[in-house]
Parts: sequence; structure tokens; C-alpha cells
Amino acid sequence: MQVPDFDVAILGGGCAGLSLAVRLAQSDLSVRIIEPRQEYTNDRAWSFWRTRADPFEDCVRKEWSSWTIAGPLGLTARSSSQMRYQTVEAGTFYHRACEMIAKGSNMTLSLGVSAQSVAHSSAGWQVHTNKGTFTAATVVDTRPPRRIPTYGQFFLGREIKTEIPIFDPDVVQLMHFRSGYSAGVDFVYVLPFAVDQALVEVTSFAPHNPGHQIFTRWLDAEIAVLNPGQTEVLRTEAGALPMQAGFADLKHDNVIHMGLGGGAARPSTGYAFTRIQSQADHVAAALIAGEFPDSKLDGRVTHFMDRVFLQVLAAAPARGPAMFQSLFRNAPANRLERFLSGSTHPLDRLSVMASLPPLPFLHAAAFPK
Ligand SMILES: Cc1cc2nc3c(=O)[nH]c(=O)nc-3n(C[C@H](O)[C@H](O)[C@H](O)COP(=O)(O)OP(=O)(O)OC[C@H]3O[C@@H](n4cnc5c(N)ncnc54)[C@H](O)[C@@H]3O)c2cc1C
Repeated sequence: MQVPDFDVAILGGGCAGLSLAVRLAQSDLSVRIIEPRQEYTNDRAWSFWRTRADPFEDCVRKEWSSWTIAGPLGLTARSSSQMRYQTVEAGTFYHRACEMIAKGSNMTLSLGVSAQSVAHSSAGWQVHTNKGTFTAATVVDTRPPRRIPTYGQFFLGREIKTEIPIFDPDVVQLMHFRSGYSAGVDFVYVLPFAVDQALVEVTSFAPHNPGHQIFTRWLDAEIAVLNPGQTEVLRTEAGALPMQAGFADLKHDNVIHMGLGGGAARPSTGYAFTRIQSQADHVAAALIAGEFPDSKLDGRVTHFMDRVFLQVLAAAPARGPAMFQSLFRNAPANRLERFLSGSTHPLDRLSVMASLPPLPFLHAAAFPK
């Protein structure tokens, strides 16, 4: 075999690509990350319940121990003495990741470079880019998936600074349900950073994206009803995440798939950040040990539960708000939050299953679509 230019090529320097690169920067492997963006901007914020350590713990902007759900059953408030809901801003994350990568002796981060194709070669792989070709023994592909999922999480959010203090900075409004914006389940999410500053986001779990116009009108109305006075928009974000069990089942192409294209978004929730961190730990450990990693995150039981949950949600979206509220009302403290963060512990799973109305789930389990 010809000696490759790099041990590892990482296609895409977003959340998954940089998370892996940061871990590999502490090894002897030579790594090239290629990323089409010319520069990083603060393009999103990742929020999640922290369940494990990761290299970005010092990038947390704010954390909360209370959250609410509001819907047909009224207001459900939950607090935790153990679990913290945290936010990491992408701008801080990218900066920190670039710093850690720059400390590695064999790391190359190439901005403004996009992968066009990869092909087997005598050196392992040839990576063709808009700026020429290079070779690598192993390819990790973190580019966004091109497939369109049959169900997804769609959202539009604005971080705003208001003239009037209108937010409770200690409580996250996780899911405050609305209706009539999509063919699925609609809710508003408010992440309060201060009494006068928050990310307000309108979200649909639905078979199709309701579209920018509907989202803009909906978001305008949600902000107006808060009576915020003069409002400054500090940042906007939008997304479309797959919510489909088996969406990213592993392709047997000898390329390592990570991030959204590697099944990192939990099919039943869309949460991906903590799962990307465990995927990055696992893939880095295998590459450093000279092994081919299995980057799959979900076993058969999780896959089955996600499939059943999504089938019930898609079949009867009007029942969605009450279903989510039952979960947040009935599941024991911390277990639901751990489950939503990706825990596959049998007790966490069991608590979640026991907190849901059994009939629709038994039906969906027995009659898969
Ligand atoms: C606005 C927004 C908010 C989100 N909030 C949360 C949250 O609160 N909690 C949570 O858990 N998850 C959240 N997610 C979901 C998920 O965590 C993110 O989408 C996350 O960034 C996924 O990581 P990734 O590496 O798969 O994709 P990205 O971070 O999108 O990285 C993919 C990279 O591939 C690059 N790329 C594209 N084409 C090429 C090419 N041809 N060659 C090389 N590189 C290429 C892109 O430029 C990009 O940098 C959010 C997503 C979005 C969009």
C-alpha cells in the first residue's frame, strides 16, 4: 500500500467533525479536516441535559435545573437536583475546538475546502475536493445527509434582547404546545438567558417543513404576545433534523459516518449534541487503537422504542401534546431527562414506557408501518 498523505480525513468540520478532531489531536495520528466554510460564526446553540463529561464543559453559557411543559393538561413543572439543562453556543465551541486542534502536532484544519467525492486508492482513499486531491488511510464522513426523512423536527428561533424584563431566567420553557401550524405537533421553546434576553423558538415535529413564511409569522406572534417593548434580534437560527428510526442505518462502504448522517440525532427527539460526544469518544478510541469503529449509537431495543413512539406521533399528532405531558408528569425525576439524553439504561427505558398511555403504543408495536 502506498503511504497516504494522512492517517485520517474528516469530511466536515462542524459539531461531529471537530468533536472527533479534538480527541485525535491528543494522538500521534495525522489528521486533515476539510470544511467548506471560510470562517466559523455563532450559527446555533446546542442545549442538552448533561449526562457525561466532554471536552467542551468550559464552553457552557448557562445551565438550568427547572423546565416546564404546557399543554392540554395545564402547566407541568419539573426540577432536578442532579440533572442540568445546559447550553453551549456554537461560536464558543468552534473557537475552543480550533484552539485544541491547533495544539495537536499532526492536525490540519482546511477551511474553504469541500469534498466532492471519495474513491478507493492504493493508499486507502483518495479524497477529491474543490482544491485538489489528497489521500488518507481512513475517511470519516460528517457531511449532512442528503436524504429527506419521512418525519422531522423543523424550527426557527431568534435570540432577542427586550426593553421590558419578561423572562424568568431560571426556568426553561421546554415545550409549550400550540396547534395548527404544521401537520404534526407544534410547540414554542424559550431558553431564557436573563430577564430581558432569551432564545424564542417555534418548532414542529412533522412529516413536512411548514416553511419559512409560516414559521416567521408564528414566531412574530409569539414574541409580540410577550409584550417585550423595543426588541433587538441578536441572532437567528433555523434547522431541519431527521426524526426517523433507522434514518442513518450504517452504510457498508468502509467509510465511518458520524453526526446527523451517522444517526447522531435521537430519532424520537432530535437531540444530538451529547450523542455526538459519545460517538466521538468511541470513534477516536477505536482509531487510536488501530481498529475500525462501529459508530452506531442505538441498539435494537432503542430502535424499536423510537419506531413505536414516532409511529404513534405521526398517526395521531393531536394526541402528541398530551402524550409528551404524560411523560413529563409521570416519569420519575431524572429518568426521563436521562432517557432523552440518550440513556439506554433499562430502568430509564422502563420508566418512560410506564409513563405513557399503553393502548396506542401496543397497537403501534403490533402493527409496524
Ligand atoms: C440551528 C440548530 C440548532 C440545534 N440545536 C440543537 C440542540 O439544542 N441540541 C441538540 O442536541 N442538537 C441540536 N441541533 C442538532 C445537531 O446537534 C446539530 O445539527 C449538529 O451541528 C450536528 O452536527 P454534525 O456534525 O452532524 O453537522 P454540522 O455541525 O452541520 O456539520 C456538518 C459539516 O459538514 C460541512 N460540509 C457540508 N458539505 C461538505 C462537503 N462537501 N465537504 C466537507 N464538509 C462539508 C458543513 O459545512 C458542516 O460544517 C441543532 C441543529 C441546528 C441546525
